[in-house]
Amino acid sequence: GKESAVTITVAGASGDLAKKKIFPALFALYYEGCLPKHFTIYGYARSKMTNEQLRTMISQTLTCRIDQSGNCGDKIEKFLQQCFYHSGQYNSEEDFSQLDKDLKEHEGGGLANRLFYLSVPPDVFIDVARCASLRASSLKGWTRVIVEKPFGRDSESSAELTRGLKNYLTEEQIYRIDHYLGKELVENLSVLRFSNLVFEPLWSRQYIRNVQLIFSEDFGTEGRGGYFDSYGIIRDIMQNHLLQILALFAMEPPISLDAEDIRNEKVKVLRSMRPLHIEDVVVGQYKSHVRGGVKYPGYTDDKTVPSNSITPTFAAAALFIDNARWDGVPFLMKAGKALHNRRAEIRVQFRHVPGHLFKRSFGMDLDQATNELVIRVQPDEAIYLKINNKVPGLGMRLDRSNLNLLYADRYSREIPDAYERLLLDAIEGERRLFIRSDELDAAWSLFTPLLKELEARKVVPELYPYGSRGPVGAHYLAAKYNVRWGDLGSESQNA
Ligand code: NAP
Repeated sequence: GKESAVTITVAGASGDLAKKKIFPALFALYYEGCLPKHFTIYGYARSKMTNEQLRTMISQTLTCRIDQSGNCGDKIEKFLQQCFYHSGQYNSEEDFSQLDKDLKEHEGGGLANRLFYLSVPPDVFIDVARCASLRASSLKGWTRVIVEKPFGRDSESSAELTRGLKNYLTEEQIYRIDHYLGKELVENLSVLRFSNLVFEPLWSRQYIRNVQLIFSEDFGTEGRGGYFDSYGIIRDIMQNHLLQILALFAMEPPISLDAEDIRNEKVKVLRSMRPLHIEDVVVGQYKSHVRGGVKYPGYTDDKTVPSNSITPTFAAAALFIDNARWDGVPFLMKAGKALHNRRAEIRVQFRHVPGHLFKRSFGMDLDQATNELVIRVQPDEAIYLKINNKVPGLGMRLDRSNLNLLYADRYSREIPDAYERLLLDAIEGERRLFIRSDELDAAWSLFTPLLKELEARKVVPELYPYGSRGPVGAHYLAAKYNVRWGDLGSESQNA
């Protein structure tokens, strides 16, 4: 409850994720009054830093969302006074015992819960879990650990990580974060489906022709390709974020909104998926490109990437769920770096209207006249439905229009960052948006054989220019299943 104290220790506090996401999210929660009254935040890393230096570092990234009260600076100051730093090694039980002492001082002997955020490279996950669990667990309250991806790089290494963590923690203590699940529109998927009569009855092979899950970034690795090169876009985006969205999208109605009920349904979807064949996958890598006199670097121009790397920076895949609801419906995924825009969206293309009465009234190809529901996760959150409409006037001419719910127009409040929601859920013990270990296993079972085959065959990615729409192969893959990528149509521009 709000009365018990909580201490949040960010391991890897000197790092990028901590600076960019975790501390700002913690401040936003404090600002909104969502943190328990007695909270303490500890940064933990090997770097030497004083409390003051940590505070200075954190303060550079804090902003106030809507400063209605005008006391934003005040709140920042109060928040920073609750932030402390402890320098130590990640594998030293001694150092964690010291941290434990510090934490106890702040907790003052009452009921105190402890949350550890492992914002460190994956090779030290288990060290931190071990030291924190053995030496810095809460004696009277709960101890929970948030883990960031990567959760291994295939089935075996993921299972090994899970085993390692479970030597020191129970499944109930482990919060595996997939920050896409914390995004407003991803969380809204269930609301859209299950609280509107007009959607759920259509949510099957009977009316849906295909579903597209699209992720694009308009920048490359930009000198930070070291980590990425050993993972690639399939592990970085598809196996986790896009697959999680797919599972939420396609699951059967859960018995309740309880975490276990929802995760049970998601895991059923994942385990119903048809094995993914290499013929249903296209991989690409961006190459340098000159546009408007500016030279954009290719992936292998990145100094942190081997010059002969064949790591995919783009991938498209066609997946199928072999269950009664989705039999034969292609779920197409596409993810890439250094493309022409930055976007994450879900596109649902519906079937043709049978015996189309208005066939002749269309100035366009009937193929483009099907309904399409677009859920834009980022940026500019929106939900819109493409419908056919009569152009006003005499005669009968139809065009395509959008029923449009643009969040910025409809809701004045700013949308919280995914990390805020997830941190709050972890503090409150709400597991719905975190990945259970059997979900993780099922996700890896789907992608591991494909990844191994790509690597064994040394499949060379199709090159695409930096800033382009990606390799042509993605179109052929879609065409094989009679699908047109919705994000490349002429109408998507004015949406
Ligand atoms: P990072 O900056 O590379 O590392 C965080 C901290 O870990 C560093 O400040 C460093 O602190 C310590 N560290 C670095 N290399 C280490 C090594 N080889 N051995 C032991 N400690 C080391 O990582 P990050 O970008 O903050 O990300 C943290 C975690 O979140 C990673 O697991 C990453 O994969 C994951 N992640 C990051 C992002 C992102 O946007 N950055 C997104 C999703 C997931 P000290 O030297 O002071 O100890």
